[in-house]
Amino acid sequence: SAKQGSGSKTRFYDPEIHSQVRDRMVLETDLKSALGLQQLEVFYQPQVDTDGITCGAEVLLRWQHPTRGMVSPAEFIPLAEESDLIQSIGRWVMESACKQLFVWSGMKGCSNLTLAVNVSSREFSQPDFVDSVKEIFEETGADPSLLKIELTESMVLEDISATREKMQALQEIGVGFAIDDFGTGFSSLMYLTSLPLETLKIDRAFVRHLPHNKREVIVTQGIIGLAKGLKLNLIAEGVETEQQRAFLLSNGCERFQGFYFSPPLPLAEFEKYFSR
Ligand code: C2E
Ligand code: MG
Ligand code: MG
Ligand code: MG
Repeated sequence: SAKQGSGSKTRFYDPEIHSQVRDRMVLETDLKSALGLQQLEVFYQPQVDTDGITCGAEVLLRWQHPTRGMVSPAEFIPLAEESDLIQSIGRWVMESACKQLFVWSGMKGCSNLTLAVNVSSREFSQPDFVDSVKEIFEETGADPSLLKIELTESMVLEDISATREKMQALQEIGVGFAIDDFGTGFSSLMYLTSLPLETLKIDRAFVRHLPHNKREVIVTQGIIGLAKGLKLNLIAEGVETEQQRAFLLSNGCERFQGFYFSPPLPLAEFEKYFSR
């Protein structure tokens, strides 16, 4: 409750909020040492084509906390974004992905696998973002055309001309860009006409109710039509059932990601899934 005692000084003291704040601070402190203690790991969620063949994966960060167990990125990425931690974590994720692409480039059957990396606004808005990604390609020897960068609608609009320049610079060397969670932000669609995009990811929020909910059906068909018209690739996220896959497929979606195929997996399991 917001009221403790009767004095005005303690009016806003809320033990529950206080403990949540303290909890976040402790978690943030733990996160600072997580990289060094090797508690972070990247998982790989398969992205499959119309024949069910794995063409690549989305790289998803996992934090194995010593006492809390697995902490969700939905919980700790925002924490990292509030501090500068996101820079070092983001760089580490990008390096991990590129190292893996290089390893696969020499493995039979794996050399065409793509990896999609989520990049936060706080990383992408750094003036040296492009240079640091190029540096990682040089360090690791990864083929830039196998790297996909996922951005969200709101972040590409923060500074549209800087965004366009950065995207163009990386697109020139082969990197592809996807808009993640498409259709869930509060944003203008104008950016679709002016940014060098490769892919739209249909958000799980739309996929979830397919094919039963008329409105989600219409919105999803609209997104697919938009992507086709603009010659963008599509990936549907959060595909959990055969009906969802079938509906998306018959409406022209050609790539899928979701628990119906596989959850995000540790490297060894992803490689097993891929070569099954
Ligand atoms: P996202 O990029 O939209 O990733 C998709 C999320 O949906 C992942 O959650 C994935 O595990 C989950 N998912 C995939 N298929 C299904 C499904 O069929 N059903 C359901 N219910 N969920 C599904 P996750 O791994 O918890 O990540 C949450 C968010 O955290 C990501 O959303 C992304 O925004 C962020 N994130 C994860 N890793 C990174 C990273 O390395 N860097 C940055 N900046 N953000 C990251
Ligand atoms: Mg994503
Ligand atoms: Mg998403
Ligand atoms: Mg998301």
